[in-house]
Amino acid sequence: MDVCTAIVGINWGDEGKGRMVDLLTEDFDVVVRYQGGGNAGHTIVNRYGEFQLHLLPSGVFRPNVVNVLGNGVALDPEHLRNEIQTLTAQGVSITPDNVKISNRASLLLPWHRKLDELEEQRLKEKKFGSTKKGIAPFYSDKYQKKTVLAGELFYPDILKAHLKDLLEWKNMILTGVYGADPITEEDIEAWLHDYCEPLKPFIQDTRAYLADAHYHHKRILFEGQLGALRDLDFGIYPYTTSSNTLAYYAPIGAGMPGVRIEPVIGVMKAYSSCVGEGPFVCEMFGEEAERLRQLGGEFGSRPHRVGPIDLVASKYGCQIQAATEIAMTKLDVLSSLDEIPLCVRYRLDGVETDQMPFPSLLDRCEPVIETMKGWKCDISRVRNWWDLPEEAQAYVKRIEKAIGVVIRWISVGPERHSIIIRG
Ligand code: GDP
Repeated sequence: MDVCTAIVGINWGDEGKGRMVDLLTEDFDVVVRYQGGGNAGHTIVNRYGEFQLHLLPSGVFRPNVVNVLGNGVALDPEHLRNEIQTLTAQGVSITPDNVKISNRASLLLPWHRKLDELEEQRLKEKKFGSTKKGIAPFYSDKYQKKTVLAGELFYPDILKAHLKDLLEWKNMILTGVYGADPITEEDIEAWLHDYCEPLKPFIQDTRAYLADAHYHHKRILFEGQLGALRDLDFGIYPYTTSSNTLAYYAPIGAGMPGVRIEPVIGVMKAYSSCVGEGPFVCEMFGEEAERLRQLGGEFGSRPHRVGPIDLVASKYGCQIQAATEIAMTKLDVLSSLDEIPLCVRYRLDGVETDQMPFPSLLDRCEPVIETMKGWKCDISRVRNWWDLPEEAQAYVKRIEKAIGVVIRWISVGPERHSIIIRG
């Protein structure tokens, strides 16, 4: 039986998965997003320009690749319609032939974003650091069975009654709990008209489509969003996302239950970065952090927290992702450092460990730092492992030994072909 491939994040997200998917889609027929929504972005630089993707799979730049948004995705019609419009204006072709949306994907409704914002405001300094895209309220409603499936858009009478019930209940929460303004039926009608109607041609039974594609030996790639440490079940709860970011959730969230995945390509950064709140044991501060932030361009909607590579968290990330090989990104970013720090263990209450502690204990952990000699030269044009400076090779091998997974790909620049592939 044919197997599928997964590309997933090993760390806290923003590892550079988008650039790896963009590179590897050459060898695939179908790319599937299986979880998450518009709450994290991929940056892709290719010969067509620089693009930001949030919801659309990263295969949209390859003319012959079909891109699927599976049932596990938080389908935000407003966000998706806007993303399609932006990419189309940039010259990318997006049609029902190359983008397909599962009729079983649940819709992120207009109140989800509002509730996300209101709850973060209520939490004040205890906030989760939400991107306020409505993801947590969406997934909690999905599991309460209080949202709408994309396929319901084809049954307007049923949909109208369903939305009316949900709206009545949500307005009790918006006004009664948060003292906010209610959402009106007219707001919902406008949302359906402006954002949902344009998506209808893309919606279909993607489970059946994928079963057929699999039967006909199409090569299928699962594209993960965020990283292992943000997984709802195994991440740094409660500073996780509200979906499962792990590779082995992909068969469910894509709509291909039971399919085997081989390889699982884990994407890991050559140093650490983290967006948002929560424990980040290896975090650097001050000038040292600012330098790394500048070198790595670690700024998004807010400056990213940065630190040395965290071998404890990365080993754990590899284990829970069941990674069979690693793509390491941004090695070029470390090229100007005299010495490269690595967080090799954690010290918890005076005892050193290389095992990931229970999330509630992470705030009590300190990083144990070792340093390695830097290579101090530009490696962005290197394409062959043997042309990498000895110090860079030693750094990669040190990490490989700690995580126990082969580092097969080394990315030395954001462009599609800035990559070293080890035999
Ligand atoms: P994703 O969410 O995992 O896809 O990661 P992002 O796209 O948010 O972040 C990765 C950022 O790093 C993007 O700006 C990429 O263009 C950039 N990037 C990816 N790989 C490399 C690399 O090897 N070197 C450098 N300098 N930048 C890279």
